[in-house]
Amino acid sequence: MSTTSICVRPDAGCGVEVERGGRVRVVAPDGGQVGDVFAYSGDDPTEFLSASHTRAWTSRLFPKVGEEFVTTYRRPILRLVGDSSPGVHDMLIAACDPRRYELLGAAVHPSCAENLRIGLRSVGREPGGVVPQPVNLFMATPVGPDGEISWLPSPSRPGDRVEFEALMDLVFVLSACPQDLVPINGSAGPTPLVLEVT
Ligand SMILES: [Zn+2]
Repeated sequence: MSTTSICVRPDAGCGVEVERGGRVRVVAPDGGQVGDVFAYSGDDPTEFLSASHTRAWTSRLFPKVGEEFVTTYRRPILRLVGDSSPGVHDMLIAACDPRRYELLGAAVHPSCAENLRIGLRSVGREPGGVVPQPVNLFMATPVGPDGEISWLPSPSRPGDRVEFEALMDLVFVLSACPQDLVPINGSAGPTPLVLEVT
């Protein structure tokens, strides 16, 4: 059983094809870094991991170990099988995109939406027009009792990692979020993540 390890920089996404039963780990070597995860059915690019369908599946806002993530067709696609981090992840917030940065005053800026397209092309897949709402690993956006969302720095520590099991043949795309205008990444700013596939 071999393991492939890929460094994912904040200005370029990375995609990998994973067979059913395969394991994917996302490691934050420096900590304090958000990672946007996207997953597509290997057979049908119009079927992908959906955060909103997953929230209905698990009756939770945020993922926890043992739970499944489901697709737009409500089929399990990934299971969260390990998490050495404080366990704080987001399933509410859209991927950052060029318009988000434009509104924040940056005319040219890398984004998770563009990184998704780069990641899909890296495995020969042509991106569609839709950017799915990702699972935002290590991202702290707690919801208060009044429904207000807070934007907090990622609490992940150096070397923290999460592990997924592939529940179908799939394409997994990771973006190390390049957000440096809203303080969701650590004080060091955006740093690379490592993607390991076994
Ligand atoms: Zn982002």
